[in-house]
Amino acid sequence: MAKASETVLEIDLLALEHNYRFFKSRIKQTTKFLGVVKAFAYGSDSVAIARKLEVLGADYLAVAYVSEGVELRKAGIKLPILVLHPLPVSFDNLITYNLEPNIYSIKILKDFLRVAKEKELNQYPIHLKFNTGLNRLGFTEIEVEVLTDMLNGQDRLEVVSMFSHLAASEDLNEIAFTEKQISTFQHITSIFLPKLKSRPMLHLLNTSGIINYEKAQYDMVRSGIGLYGFGNEAAIDAQLKPVATLKTVISQIHTIKMGQSIGYNMAYKAEADIVTATLPVGHADGIGRQYGNGKAYVTIQGQKAPIIGNVCMDMIMVNITGIDCKEGDEVIVFGKRPTAEEFASGAKTISYEILTGISQRVTRLVVDN
Ligand SMILES: *Cc1c(COP(=O)(O)O)cnc(C)c1O
Repeated sequence: MAKASETVLEIDLLALEHNYRFFKSRIKQTTKFLGVVKAFAYGSDSVAIARKLEVLGADYLAVAYVSEGVELRKAGIKLPILVLHPLPVSFDNLITYNLEPNIYSIKILKDFLRVAKEKELNQYPIHLKFNTGLNRLGFTEIEVEVLTDMLNGQDRLEVVSMFSHLAASEDLNEIAFTEKQISTFQHITSIFLPKLKSRPMLHLLNTSGIINYEKAQYDMVRSGIGLYGFGNEAAIDAQLKPVATLKTVISQIHTIKMGQSIGYNMAYKAEADIVTATLPVGHADGIGRQYGNGKAYVTIQGQKAPIIGNVCMDMIMVNITGIDCKEGDEVIVFGKRPTAEEFASGAKTISYEILTGISQRVTRLVVDN
């Protein structure tokens, strides 16, 4: 891959393909695969990722909001797209662009039914979400009765899937909680399905669910973070390839004398003579202040260079003492080493946050070979 000459987020579609095949190999051949491409495909490039997933044979895509699905449709993506968190204000667009809403409450169902009547829709696909313990979005068991009454008396909408979401599928200390979610889902589907006219798909598992609870794969699984190269555990990470690499360059090198300070508010004071590099990436690019003051490191020529002092809006300073490098050299902020997971954990956060937070100021460079 080409050396960076400015800050770029490189998106490796072959790594995506590798990760996709890894997760496909962990599920039954008959289980459908939904690729989660919300939030710019976890901060990468949703159109490039969606196109690649379409070519690879994924069955479904999911985004969080309608605007994200519209962007994919405008780019020519044909796969069915589930919108995980649609809001009534965007129902018009949702229908215009043939996106499929997650219906998660009686109010949302009423609102969507009203629009469906106005537009004279016929058997428009919807997905019903049930709350089994995350307590975020979804119907509960007591709503099954009113829900079936509302749905069975009409032909405007057709339930194509019924799903739920796990709260702690990556946490092996919470197996009992997850098993309870699985049995709650099983229970709700067993009372709901016989009342429905159609036989919707069932789905429950996210990335860590696929890894830890493969018995609950039902008709489809939904993977996000795993596709981008992270499995929430080291043994899985080792078998995946990071899709995104944040690269930058050394803008300037300084020799700092013992006792001198670096950056705003003199947050770092040199306790010996050191050499620093200033890099053109800062909190406006998604490298938040929590990564400063030694919490995270970047690599230069394969060697660790800790971020020192406070993160600035457009720059960071790193300690390059002892590293053989010069102005203009490439710097890996995260990618293979450190991984986004390692970079994030230094500041007590998770790969999901650092990846999705890389701002749109950073050029995306898609590589497919
Ligand atoms: C984001 C999301 C996923 C993907 O989760 P990962 O842990 O990234 O695999 C799956 N399902 C729902 C409902 C989500 O919101």
